[in-house]
Amino acid sequence: MYYKFKDVVVVEEAKTKNDIRKVHTTCPYCGVGCQIEIYFSSDRLFKVEAFDEVPPNYGALCVKGKNGLGFIESDRRITQPLIRRKKDRDLEPVNWDVALDFMVRRLADIIKRYGPDSTGFFSSAKATNEENYLMQKIARSVVGTNNVDHCARLCHSTSGVAMGRSVGAGAMTNTIEEIQANDVMLIVGSNILDTYPIIGIQMKKAVQNGARMIVVDPRNTTIARYAELHLGLRPGSDTVLFNGIGRYIVDAGLQNNTFIEKNVKGFDEWLKSVELYTLEYTEKITGISAEDVRKAAEMYARAERGAIYWAMGATQHAGGTDNVQSLVNLALITGKLGKRGTGLNPIRGQNNVQGAGDMGALPNVFPGGGNVTDSNVRRYYEGLWGVERLPENIGLGLTDIIEGTRVGRIKAIYLMGEDPMTSEPYQDHVTDALNTLELFVVQDILLNETTSYADVVLPAACFAEKDGTFINTDRRVQRIRKAVEPPGEARPDWEILSEVGRRLSVKLNKQQKWDYNSPEEVWNEVRNASPSLFKGISYARIESKGVRWPCPAEEHPGTEDLFVEGFNTPSKKAQLFPAEYSPPVEIPDEKYPLVLNTGRVLFHWHGGTMSRRSKLAELYPELLVEVNPNDAERYGIRDKDYINVVSRRGQITARAKVTDRSPEGVVFVPIHFVEAPANRLTLNVYDHKARIPEYKNSAVRIMLSRDAVAKKKESF
Ligand code: SF4
Repeated sequence: MYYKFKDVVVVEEAKTKNDIRKVHTTCPYCGVGCQIEIYFSSDRLFKVEAFDEVPPNYGALCVKGKNGLGFIESDRRITQPLIRRKKDRDLEPVNWDVALDFMVRRLADIIKRYGPDSTGFFSSAKATNEENYLMQKIARSVVGTNNVDHCARLCHSTSGVAMGRSVGAGAMTNTIEEIQANDVMLIVGSNILDTYPIIGIQMKKAVQNGARMIVVDPRNTTIARYAELHLGLRPGSDTVLFNGIGRYIVDAGLQNNTFIEKNVKGFDEWLKSVELYTLEYTEKITGISAEDVRKAAEMYARAERGAIYWAMGATQHAGGTDNVQSLVNLALITGKLGKRGTGLNPIRGQNNVQGAGDMGALPNVFPGGGNVTDSNVRRYYEGLWGVERLPENIGLGLTDIIEGTRVGRIKAIYLMGEDPMTSEPYQDHVTDALNTLELFVVQDILLNETTSYADVVLPAACFAEKDGTFINTDRRVQRIRKAVEPPGEARPDWEILSEVGRRLSVKLNKQQKWDYNSPEEVWNEVRNASPSLFKGISYARIESKGVRWPCPAEEHPGTEDLFVEGFNTPSKKAQLFPAEYSPPVEIPDEKYPLVLNTGRVLFHWHGGTMSRRSKLAELYPELLVEVNPNDAERYGIRDKDYINVVSRRGQITARAKVTDRSPEGVVFVPIHFVEAPANRLTLNVYDHKARIPEYKNSAVRIMLSRDAVAKKKESF
């Protein structure tokens, strides 16, 4: 067994056998989408087990799935609607009617005074497909703006841009099961045994069965221990490494000329763009020896079945689109797409981040990916939704909505299941932005940092209290099911959104029908909104196990590998784009000599709102800043000492964990601890194409903390 700690599954003893109820549903944490059974005894959470031997987890669960669901019963659950009548007043409890009337009246007033584009809509990768669909439908068809987005902006928007323009879809092209078919795995910027353990375990198993693994990561991560080749490159030099590998592949004649000729455009321009990236230049910039660059190129290019997997270590950079583009280019020049165990695989983070994007909770596309700037596509949705005219311009994404708020362009935000105070970069900057809003509506399951800035708080049901669907990282549409009643007056997001849509439509004199009776009814509308992906996937069909999109008809089996019959572009050919290297924006200097890297640990999830209200808090109770032993010695720091981590934007205090998982010159700060938020330190610089923040490269200094004990007691 991978985990060395004692499992702490049992929440309380069941009273009698008859008292136990179990419900099959989907884990609410990560994009793997494990199938679980949750057991309740007298409506109290009793235990969690894997459901049957079905994909994607085949009876296995990680520590979060087993021990992380205690948040369902947390005393931090929001149980009643709250409103703040004036900015200087406290939030006060009210009934649903008062809260929704207050919200809709003020939202309609702002739309009338400043126009639809003065509003922003934060959809949620933790909510269901049906709920994301309704959120974007409110923004587009009722309000009339494309300012709608979700947290993919902060994790894989760069993958969406690079894969979208090159191959026509920003999703995993292979399946989780196919990991066993890989000859060579190239894993980039993903601590996958900690962040997506069930996939990581599959990769370990593939290595045991003879697959070869290359890991590219500045950190000495758990998965790197299983790699034949660990390339610990300098932070932010990914594009150089992959351009260098690309150039070597062509120099050595290892490119797939037949595939390129038949399927790929732009080869000559791309080849010219990698001229600079000799083995010597690549070594100089990345710190990886020419010999290892050559070995990686040979391993990948010569593999019969080679697949690339990447996550936030590659994407969360100011040059993130170029990082991903350089990976896409490698697959295209070697013809490693459209075959079993052979492809491009961005591993998606949140449980339903794939679904939120597929539902069109993005500023540039409708459900299924049709462009908002395409008049033919708009006509289709105008007909489907019964509206005269949909907005034609690409809207603002999450990070630009926050920036737009600071400069007075955005006056109102309606946010569902997001915590920008913890998740957006440069926290002080976000505080300023939220304080300027005329209306801030937060719909969530638990109180968090962000709810304290709200004018309206709407209590939502969590995943175990409602029906619906999620889409996991390998495009599988799976059910979630109601197992228990929501606490107090909390209601499912789809119900709240239907009511908001209905009331707002009346207030703005639009004659729209907003009378959904069930999530299944919403899903059936989604099937028509995006028939090429979802028409064949009914609730009945996914009763015991999910089906992967594209699935255009009931008799269609669903799709394992993308691009078997050509690419999702008008010409059916893929397009190479030059990937340009731009050095990190904030380079370490005398005052801030270290690089800050941020990310997740095995035991927690993102802002910690859910995982820290569960047994997981006992397994990893406080923030540990990972510091390399040589840096620790240089700054007089011992293991478990309290230290300050200081950037140009702020400071946090936490204990040090002295470990060689961090390379010399790099400190790693997990992102889950609101009392010492990593994003108090990070830089609000964005990738110019995808607008993802630079989370992986900020300059910091560290020192022993004098006021450590006081900080430790700071409330959570
Ligand atoms: Fe849940 Fe992800 Fe763990 Fe599976 S791997 S149990 S989906 S957190």
